[in-house]
Amino acid sequence: MAHTVCLIPGDGIGPAITEATKLVLAAAGADLEWVELPAGAAAAEQYGDVLPQQTIEAIGHHRLALKGPLTTPIGKGYGSVNVRLRKTFNLYVAVRPVRSMPGIRTRYQNVELVVLRENTEGLYSGLEHQIVPGVIETLRITTREGCERIARFAFEYARQRGRRKVTLFHKANIMKMADGLFIECARRMHRQHGAGVEYQELIIDNGCMQLVRDPGQFDLLLLENFNGDVVSDLCAGLVGGLGVVPGANLGEDCAIFEAVHGSAPDIAGRGIANPLALIMSAVMMLNHLGQTAPAERIKAAYDAVLGEGKPEELTRDIGGTATTMQFAEALARRI
Ligand code: NAD
Repeated sequence: MAHTVCLIPGDGIGPAITEATKLVLAAAGADLEWVELPAGAAAAEQYGDVLPQQTIEAIGHHRLALKGPLTTPIGKGYGSVNVRLRKTFNLYVAVRPVRSMPGIRTRYQNVELVVLRENTEGLYSGLEHQIVPGVIETLRITTREGCERIARFAFEYARQRGRRKVTLFHKANIMKMADGLFIECARRMHRQHGAGVEYQELIIDNGCMQLVRDPGQFDLLLLENFNGDVVSDLCAGLVGGLGVVPGANLGEDCAIFEAVHGSAPDIAGRGIANPLALIMSAVMMLNHLGQTAPAERIKAAYDAVLGEGKPEELTRDIGGTATTMQFAEALARRI
């Protein structure tokens, strides 16, 4: 039976990469039915709301979505719709696999790590106020429940997938209470759920230096929300950029799959965005649904296209000249 997936094309490059992703999924024989839904800047224009009720209700009903990027105004305007979606559906972990891709030349080979980002609290709570003019206070929320569930997820994920090590990045030398709680919970979850999995803690500044010096030493990275946001993009840079890093936002009974990147306003509307990160996110979704055969077909196709490295079949960010759709069509031809 076909799985019903809520599809949010999103803003900026979103509609183009979503169209490309649908083409590849159809070519691979994925058994999916789409319910297309508005959200973001485009939805505000059409419905007067960046997250219309119909979108919330549909995701609430189907518990599954594939999402393009959504623009959040900088320094003013409405709050992040991405954050609202993650909080509304309690999608407490962002799973972001980062791996070296065939044919994409970077400074590093054999990067094969997964960023696990807490997705619902921390500095991303969006709680800010002005105490007096010229003095702003931003609140970071850290709860035992939030720390425990992401840490438990990390060790269970490691064991289920045969991963060797979880490394927690923190700043508990300065944020002794908040990151102190995070560490305390992670140590306990390691004892309770991490049999056979190595556990390591690094102060985040050292962790970032270690990442760019030798990313191969890391396996699973466990991070608070804001730190996870920043380190995700850093890790994308290790393997060829934001065009090649997918993601899944997971909760107990709901999942929203999306690329790590944003709406890329600098290239929006030019037809040159790389759809691969969203295609890879869709592959994660197919595996999540148990549709492993089409997932494998798509993976083999992008490995082939990247490995062959024909400029006319690759988008610009990874050294080619192809448009978004030409890249997707190249994948479809290999399936
Ligand atoms: P961005 O990720 O949109 O872009 C950063 C850089 O990477 C840009 O140079 C862009 O051209 C490039 N890039 C990103 N995706 C690409 C792709 N698929 N192919 C080729 N190049 C790609 O980050 P930004 O510019 O800092 O943010 C733009 C907007 O996106 C902001 O409003 C931000 O809030 C939003 N955003 C949304 C999400 C999300 O929807 N989950 C994530 C991050 C940022």
